[in-house]
Amino acid sequence: MISRSEVEQIVRKIVVARLANNGKGPAPTLAVHASARHMHVSRKDLDVLFGPGYELTVERPLYQPGNYAAKELVTLIGPKSRLISNLRILGPIRDRSQIELAFTDAISLGLENVPIRLSGDIDGSAGAFVMGPKGMVELQEGVIRAAIHVHMNPAEAAYDGVKHRDFMKLRVGGDAGVTFNKVHVRVDPTVRLNVHMDTDEANACGLHLAKEFELFK
Ligand SMILES: [Zn+2]
Repeated sequence: MISRSEVEQIVRKIVVARLANNGKGPAPTLAVHASARHMHVSRKDLDVLFGPGYELTVERPLYQPGNYAAKELVTLIGPKSRLISNLRILGPIRDRSQIELAFTDAISLGLENVPIRLSGDIDGSAGAFVMGPKGMVELQEGVIRAAIHVHMNPAEAAYDGVKHRDFMKLRVGGDAGVTFNKVHVRVDPTVRLNVHMDTDEANACGLHLAKEFELFK
């Protein structure tokens, strides 16, 4: 049986720990990741690319629960017959197919007008042909450069005092010392605190060597 004074002592310790951190408790762990170019595929397009009823195979789970890099690869064909082969599909299946490229990828493919968008916001974006082992799909739209964004759950958003669709800043320490000034906040109860940037942004800030990150309003 735990005594009243022991309980008081425990409570006092917790309160002191909270006060030391402005009463907000420990900061959630921030993971910063580069997303290499990839495709999200719809049921309809997967049927054409890999055959009717085909299911994606998990190659490796991603940091966000339920998301994974699939074993399946496709070839992306640009307007001047230039191509990017071995474009990886990320699962699970989505309502609409979407391809996320870094600006360097878009240039090498000959696509000059690839808009910077949030995932899912693809109306009027660039088109391309996608080739799989069983067939080819023409995407009228769906090719974007993904805007740098931070995924957070409601508790993490409350900790930072932000809401869905706000902007935050991300300072990446290191030799280049880059600060991204418009990091889109995406709040979803199923996610963990995680910044996604594309490979051009990651190269610009030296992400692979960076050890200091600060996310702030
Ligand atoms: Zn993301």
